[in-house]
Amino acid sequence: MMGQMAGSGTQQSGARERDPLERLLGLVEPPADSADGESTRLQVAGRRDDLPTWLVSEEWRLYARPSREMVTGGREIVRFELPDRTAVSASIDPARKAFFLPFSPAEAYSNYIAEQWTANSRRGLSPGLLNAFYRGKRFIPRKAQIHGRRLLIRRQGLPDFPRWPLDTSVARLLRFYAYARLLARGESEAEFRWFWPERYKAAVILTHDVETGEGLRLAVELADLEQEYGFRSSFNLGAWYDADSGILRDLTQRGFEIGLHGLRHDRSLFSSRAAFEAQRPQLREMAERLGAEGFRSPATYRVFEWLGELPVSYDCSIPHSDPFEPQPGGCCSVWPFFVGEVVELPYTLPQDYTLFTLLGNRSAELWIRQTEAVVKEHGLVQALTHPDPGYLGDRDKRDRYRDLLVALSELEAIWKPLPREVAAWWKLRDGAEADNSEVSHGVVRIGEGVDEVEFEPPSLAAKVPPA
Ligand SMILES: [Zn+2]
Repeated sequence: MMGQMAGSGTQQSGARERDPLERLLGLVEPPADSADGESTRLQVAGRRDDLPTWLVSEEWRLYARPSREMVTGGREIVRFELPDRTAVSASIDPARKAFFLPFSPAEAYSNYIAEQWTANSRRGLSPGLLNAFYRGKRFIPRKAQIHGRRLLIRRQGLPDFPRWPLDTSVARLLRFYAYARLLARGESEAEFRWFWPERYKAAVILTHDVETGEGLRLAVELADLEQEYGFRSSFNLGAWYDADSGILRDLTQRGFEIGLHGLRHDRSLFSSRAAFEAQRPQLREMAERLGAEGFRSPATYRVFEWLGELPVSYDCSIPHSDPFEPQPGGCCSVWPFFVGEVVELPYTLPQDYTLFTLLGNRSAELWIRQTEAVVKEHGLVQALTHPDPGYLGDRDKRDRYRDLLVALSELEAIWKPLPREVAAWWKLRDGAEADNSEVSHGVVRIGEGVDEVEFEPPSLAAKVPPA
């Protein structure tokens, strides 16, 4: 018995739920008349388990419901080991015109971005402890809080998953998926909607959460610094201090963006469904008042499904990997994705607080190396820093941030938009037809092995005429 089709994918529109991984890849389908005969089908081999688990292939791990059906004949592409030491394989059988998968790539992708594995994880603090922590937080001296976090990290160590500082699991899955799709079509290359506008290799956004009124005053200096290197950024404001309207006007007139950092700096928004629904109208009012299109949750607390109901066009609360937050985890994606209609922009650089205060780094080295790695994946580089005292409000930390800006400004062919422009772009790309001139096409090429998959930007793609 064969399982359901995975990524059979010519659906471009319509009411049917679109495959989220197909949306990320954005293959430009060939004209219908080019298909000579029946093409190879990509399918999950047999019935899947009821519960998801880890499938591990060397350094790569994914979380999905495995199909344990033994497929005989054909050629094995990848073998995955399960926690019980059994193995399952992806294989192609030209005789049967079938590419058999031991899991659904779309499901694995959804599980990454929604951090589904955390349901079975004991890391971090329980909700009860978190509530207690936040009730008591104002009474705990800041230094003691920092000390407590350091102890927790020392005791638990860095997790195996997501990897820190960088986890490229979604990029790995995307390459695997592209490989399977192309091999099934009998092709070695195909056009796809390039990740970024024009021929940009990657994108960089700078975002700040403003924790205090003093932080907002210091935001002006930070904006000066960024402008010096050709950047504009976003400042996410909280409702727990007075926002000086003169400063806001100055920032927006200079092309900076204002976003939301919530009504209270605690876990209340996501503490219960009732609390979420109670705060939402006030958030909407605040967004309208500030002209804000984006949101980052205080301390990056989140409930994945609810992010799609925020009164904004994008959210940036999910780390790609951040084991240092009170709600540790990560979506493992260096690309934006959708939660309902809301675009999620994962942050991909370690936070200033993590780097300088928790880990005691004395340079921008890790930020710069991480940037290079994300650019190599053609991903979104997103820095999350704070203008406040104790963060970039301190001279030494701001100097290191300057070093990052210098390194970023020296990168070539990198898109440097505002966060809201990335969100708008991601929606445009997602809905673009093949002939949309605003969306250029890259080429995905596959080699012999599943590890040989390359995403080539439009400028290098021979098939695409110069724009
Ligand atoms: Zn904050």
